Amino acid sequence: MMDARRLIARDEHAIAGVEKLRFFPLAAESGLGEMLTEPGGRQLIDLSASWTASGFGHGEPTIAAAIARAATTAPGASILSGTHPDAVQLAEELLALVPSRLADGDRRVYLGHAGTDANEVAIRGCRHATGRPRILAFENGYHGGLGAAQGVSGVHVGAGVPADPGVVFLPYPDPYRPHTGDAATVVADVLGRAEVELAQGGTAAVIVEPLQSDGGVIVPPIGFLTGLRELCDRHGVYLIVDEVKVGLGRTGRTHGFEHDGAVPDVVTLGKALGGGLPLSAAVGPAQVLDAPVASALMTTTGNPISCAAGLAVLKIVRAGETTANARARGEQLRSLLASYAGGDGPGASRIGDVRGRGLSLGIELVTGAGSPDADPGLTAKAAYRAWQLGAVAYPVRGNVLELTPPLMISAESVERAAGILMSAIDDAALGAVSDEEIAPFQGW
Ligand SMILES: *Cc1c(COP(=O)(O)O)cnc(C)c1O
Repeated sequence: MMDARRLIARDEHAIAGVEKLRFFPLAAESGLGEMLTEPGGRQLIDLSASWTASGFGHGEPTIAAAIARAATTAPGASILSGTHPDAVQLAEELLALVPSRLADGDRRVYLGHAGTDANEVAIRGCRHATGRPRILAFENGYHGGLGAAQGVSGVHVGAGVPADPGVVFLPYPDPYRPHTGDAATVVADVLGRAEVELAQGGTAAVIVEPLQSDGGVIVPPIGFLTGLRELCDRHGVYLIVDEVKVGLGRTGRTHGFEHDGAVPDVVTLGKALGGGLPLSAAVGPAQVLDAPVASALMTTTGNPISCAAGLAVLKIVRAGETTANARARGEQLRSLLASYAGGDGPGASRIGDVRGRGLSLGIELVTGAGSPDADPGLTAKAAYRAWQLGAVAYPVRGNVLELTPPLMISAESVERAAGILMSAIDDAALGAVSDEEIAPFQGW
């Protein structure tokens, strides 16, 4: 049997640090549904789903079968210079899934590998189509890990990565830590600032998440996205909605933007779209995504194996059960956590907020009763303790434990997971995890 500690030591010697974001000594050798198995056989409940990239569960049988079938018959690995039925089918199904104000003939689908390249292509396309350089994005937003997608990501830029030369950051409306007043005032303030920026001209697009995930699971008040939509229309600017993390049913609706009734110009999808394989998409105007032809080439684009996985995923999404489960299990998890936060357990007073939509939930941890000050140290320790007790959940924006389990998670697993999380927060608040234990894990 493989030893987890030895495996982690080999990982440290062989795998590059630039692709690591570690919070505890996790090593999993297999997975099934919402469960992970460590070397040695211990089982963990997965409350991250690889940051939602395995959002329909580990080893999902219809996805696995589609991948196996495609792998044995694929006529190549690219659609650059010749097409394939599954790539065309996937693009057509995405056009049908994503609402638009344009006729189908006026839209295209870019098939990519990751949320990063889908957003990169969307941003570039909007700049090319308009001839304008500026992009409006949001503080603490996340759109990717390389290039312009990284440069318009507020979380990176806030952490010292160079900003894209054309980006302007606006505050994202946060009802828990409002910068002005109540929800309506915050939205009005943000939209007012957006208006000032757009009125200057030179803006190609606004890029926004329908719910800020890595920025701390911030649910914007209703009216924010529709307000942005209206501003974009008034100024002739494209609205890109980044559904990479919360799209495909996670919020309890197929698309995160549906909660607010706004119809974007460009929608980007990724993570769960590939059912565990690298696959992403940008769906938007032909004017944006055809311009110019052959300007964003990656050889394995549209490869039949990823496309087969994507078709299996869309079939699951259309069946609707996972989206309904996201609503039901999300409500269950949220109410278990909220009633604990309202109680008198040793960690309860450290919970500042429990929030989210569907199975995109966050627990914000603070320094003490009545104090709204963020407590990233406690959060790192609670995540570490949860792993010790048998659940995987990662901190975002320092002091928020993000919960994004596979959408098929059972009611029993939700109940067990809530118990583990509550014990982990209690234990961490009582000092069960030392600074030395978490010191090797830098996180973000
Ligand atoms: C993860 C993420 C991305 C980037 O996707 P990758 O597959 O990591 O390149 C983009 N946008 C959002 C909202 C994300 O959460």
